[in-house]
Amino acid sequence: MGNPVEEKREIIAGELKKRGLRMTLPRRVIIETLADADSYLTAEDIYHKFHAEHPGIGLATVYRTLVLFHQLGIVTKLDVGEGKARFELARTEHHHLLVCEKCYKVVKYSDFTTQEKDGFAELERLVEKMYHFRINRHVVQYCGVCPECLAKEGAS
Ligand SMILES: [Zn+2]
Ligand SMILES: [Zn+2]
Repeated sequence: MGNPVEEKREIIAGELKKRGLRMTLPRRVIIETLADADSYLTAEDIYHKFHAEHPGIGLATVYRTLVLFHQLGIVTKLDVGEGKARFELARTEHHHLLVCEKCYKVVKYSDFTTQEKDGFAELERLVEKMYHFRINRHVVQYCGVCPECLAKEGAS
C-alpha cells in the first residue's frame, strides 16, 4: 500500500470527480495538510502549514475550499467556542476529543481502554431503553483544561 496521505488524496480526488470537480492545486494542498495533521485545524493553521511551500495560495482560497469541502462532506467541522471553526477530513477512525477551554487545543484519541468502550456501550443501551431510540454512533467531546494550561495555572 502507498502512504496514507496519498491514499486519502486519491479517494477524495474520486469524490470530487464524481461531482464534476477537479483536483486543483489548492484543493490538493489543503487535503494533504489535513491528512498530515493529527488533530483538527483552523483555516489559519492550514494556511500557515503550507504557506512557505505554496505562497501563491491565499487564506481566502483556504476559507472557500473548506466551505466547499464541508458542503461535500469531505471535511467535518468542529466549533470549540474560540470563534472560528476547526476542520478535519471526514471518515477518520472513531475518536474522542479533549478540548482545552483556555487555549482551544484539541486532542484526539482512539486508543480507548476496555473500560471506556464498555462504559459507553452500557450507557448507550441505557439511553436506548429510556428514549426508545436506536443509537448508531456517538460524538464525544470532553471540555476542560489541558496539561500545559494546568501547569501555567499552577505556576502563577
Ligand atoms: Zn466512542
Ligand atoms: Zn490549554
